[in-house]
Amino acid sequence: MHCPFCRHPDSRVVDSRTTDDGTSIRRRRQCPDCSRRFTTIETASLTVIKRSGVTEPFSRDKVIAGVRKACQGRPVTEDALAKLGQRVEEAVRATGSAELSTHDVGLAILGPLQELDLVAYLRFASVYRAFDSLDDFEAAIAELREQRPPSQHCGNCGEAENSAVPAPAPAAD
Ligand SMILES: [Zn+2]
Repeated sequence: MHCPFCRHPDSRVVDSRTTDDGTSIRRRRQCPDCSRRFTTIETASLTVIKRSGVTEPFSRDKVIAGVRKACQGRPVTEDALAKLGQRVEEAVRATGSAELSTHDVGLAILGPLQELDLVAYLRFASVYRAFDSLDDFEAAIAELREQRPPSQHCGNCGEAENSAVPAPAPAAD
């Protein structure tokens, strides 16, 4: 590919490694003309099939935009949204299939969103699972209560145990 600095039409691969999750390859390249280095990331293309049958490439930004809407007014940082987007993308790529439905993507969002913010989770689930009555909300809340008893505290520090698993840090250059 072209050098992003000087547009030289060629580049040389100086290092190539698979990312920890195995879903992409990072290549360090050097321009033979200006000698500057840059990184390319190669991933399998991932297609999302919408309910209408229309297909579009998987977009982490779209996942984040949808979740951001559900998080309105909630104490959720942009950083946390970005991490959630990363986890969702890793999860859908880990399935190994090149085509997904919007349903699959929604399903991959529910788990990490539940760990992030329960109110946002309920908002998102109410749309995704098409809640149409209070009973649906009650059932979802009962489900959540069963999964996580409210008095689960860490014995050492008295703090609630942190269920948010930190996303793996990007590999250092
Ligand atoms: Zn160059």
